[in-house]
Amino acid sequence: MDMIKKALTALTAAGTLCACVTANGVSAASTMIKGDVDRDDRVSVCDIVILKNYILGRYGLNDEQLNAADMNCDGLVDNLDLSCLQEAVLESGKKLPVGTWIGDCGGAKRYLSFGNGAVTITTPDGSSVSYRLETVNDLLIFRTASGAEMSAFITWTGDRSFVLKWENGSAETYRYLYGEKLNSSELLSGRWVTSQGRTFEINGLSGKVTDKSGGTSRFEYAPDGGDIVFHFGNTENAAYGKKVRNDSMHFTVTWSDGTAERFTRQEIEERDGITYINGILIANKTYSLPAGYNPAGILPEPQAAFNTMQADAKKAGYSLSIASGYRSYAYQGQLYNNYVARDGQAAADTYSARAGHSEHQTGLAMDINYAGDWFTGTPEAKWLAANCVNYGFIIRYPLGKESITGYQYESWHIRYLGKELAKEVADSGLTLEEFLCIDSEYRS
Ligand SMILES: [Zn+2]
Repeated sequence: MDMIKKALTALTAAGTLCACVTANGVSAASTMIKGDVDRDDRVSVCDIVILKNYILGRYGLNDEQLNAADMNCDGLVDNLDLSCLQEAVLESGKKLPVGTWIGDCGGAKRYLSFGNGAVTITTPDGSSVSYRLETVNDLLIFRTASGAEMSAFITWTGDRSFVLKWENGSAETYRYLYGEKLNSSELLSGRWVTSQGRTFEINGLSGKVTDKSGGTSRFEYAPDGGDIVFHFGNTENAAYGKKVRNDSMHFTVTWSDGTAERFTRQEIEERDGITYINGILIANKTYSLPAGYNPAGILPEPQAAFNTMQADAKKAGYSLSIASGYRSYAYQGQLYNNYVARDGQAAADTYSARAGHSEHQTGLAMDINYAGDWFTGTPEAKWLAANCVNYGFIIRYPLGKESITGYQYESWHIRYLGKELAKEVADSGLTLEEFLCIDSEYRS
């Protein structure tokens, strides 16, 4: 009963609108819908009435209205257009959207997912509300579990587009995105850099991409189960890909043309002169620590992790000790200057850090047993390489990665990351620089 009352109210409202439009001329409409003679962003009984009266010679129509009324685009407005329009109004109410549609209401985007007599509306921040969907002809009624409702008239403007005209008069144009329901729990907000040198800044359902040459474009983005969809700039320019999550900071998209692009989460934050990338404190040749950063020793968490590791190693017959742990900014500066005096700057830079650039200043790194090639290949070095990840450490400067980490192979230098992250980095087979898509190079 309620629905019928609603539909009757709507029809009366449409009648009022007819009178209003004929008295005041044409309302400003954003989209041209064939048959929308009164230009209110939908086709309705109201348009039939106006067109009929025009054909009977009772109303005049302006060029814009004549253009809309010319349903078969033959340059004439006649009875044939009237029957086309009647058909269109009739059909408009019969067809219900399925799948996910992207809408544009005054620049703000939102998504509607239709299916099983329900519709979910997802807003740009990723939050969503579900409604039960009821229809009376071309009137869609959205009802929440608590009984609150809102309604809109639907007008199809093509196979893959429709306009919703809400009770308050606002109109939204929707276009087809894909056949599934949007799952907002799969949204990937944040800053991502890719293996193709692009940077994606995703915020809820939209974002900005910067390509290698610095050019930017906006996109709309949606996760779709294992798939990912980007709409760049306009409707036609869509990119579909298959998404595989690698770990907490990576996923790989295989685009429909077969090319793969690896995405790396990269949130760079600088607090008190200290750089954190995805929350990880970084000290290398690119990112330095201020002189004032002084934890005055190995931090409690890595120290406790080392103590456990040392005890377990002992049980297995290996003896581990810390040869060098925390080093202050000033002490690192002295060390480095001595090496420069002895071997020259170029050589010193391959094995020693300049003041502020040493990982030893973080309080998260340590050299085990002996800081030098003598340690490499010892039973302790082998045990450390195989087991340190279980205690939250990584071998920070691996063999063969000198050009990436900026340092020669150091079998003795370990860096604490915590168990979960250390395992992700170790499993990836990458250095910390590669894992975070950063470099390690002095800028001067
Ligand atoms: Zn070291």
